[in-house]
Amino acid sequence: MNVDHNCIFCKIVAGQIPSRKAYEDDEFLVFHDIAPWAPVHLLIIPKAHIATLSDIDPSQDAGMLGRMLALAPRLAREHGATNGFRTIINTGSDGGQEVYHLHMHVIGGPRPWAKG
Ligand code: 5GP
Ligand code: ZN
Repeated sequence: MNVDHNCIFCKIVAGQIPSRKAYEDDEFLVFHDIAPWAPVHLLIIPKAHIATLSDIDPSQDAGMLGRMLALAPRLAREHGATNGFRTIINTGSDGGQEVYHLHMHVIGGPRPWAKG
């Protein structure tokens, strides 16, 4: 599996940095954002290091991306976003990406939210 030893999310996958885990399987880790915008703010990440959505290989990664999106509704619901949620993937500098390990934000729960 591809790992970047300087990447903060790879360190979370490796257990070198603690996180509040919400879900884990062979392919994905889901944990609570450290600076939540809303009552529910999860990050779904592939365990393998892919820097951004622009770095995916469409012929290799489409299935993984579909499975990543497909995890969102149940996890959102289970964590209290029972009335809808937002999914966001920030990509690159103009996309406002801060952590260069592909991740999808799942943001929901009762409003008002701090942002978004
Ligand atoms: P981006 O702007 O790259 O889409 O979002 C990165 C997100 O990762 C931010 O919402 C930020 O709060 C979150 N984050 C950054 N470092 C950590 C960390 O060490 N642990 C957790 N749980 N979240 C983090
Ligand atoms: Zn990484």
